[in-house]
Amino acid sequence: MATDAIPVRTRLIPAMVRGFVGRCPHCGQGRIFGRFLKVRPDCEACGLELHHHRADDLPPYAVIFIVGHIVGYLILETETRYDVPLWVEMGVWPVVTLLFALALLQPVKGAVVGLQYALGMQGFATLPRGRPVSGLKETRLAAAGAAAGIRDPDQP
Ligand SMILES: [Zn+2]
Repeated sequence: MATDAIPVRTRLIPAMVRGFVGRCPHCGQGRIFGRFLKVRPDCEACGLELHHHRADDLPPYAVIFIVGHIVGYLILETETRYDVPLWVEMGVWPVVTLLFALALLQPVKGAVVGLQYALGMQGFATLPRGRPVSGLKETRLAAAGAAAGIRDPDQP
């Protein structure tokens, strides 16, 4: 009796959350970043090839969008509610913006990789085979589906 389960793609939101916390969108166990913004070629736990990702400019664009809205709101609130000297604001807000942007860049890039994986974009159309990760709900569901004769339509 065959014991290897057919891998099933993780759904969009869980895949993006896994990427946001720096974990593989497929198994949630292996790390996806080798360095600050350098994505590993593949997952050390499940073997998912991560080098396919094409995050490109989307992560910095999303970070600018998020940080701009939050810091802009905070500047507006500070200006309208408190009497803060201009030199203090000129010193504080650029530093807050820089730190916030650096803190969000890696998680947002991970989420973008998770998004591309979940949508099967670029080379993420194929999932790792032969290295099922034990304990994954999706893998167990796939095994149950295979036993019932149901196959993943994305897989050949
Ligand atoms: Zn993995």
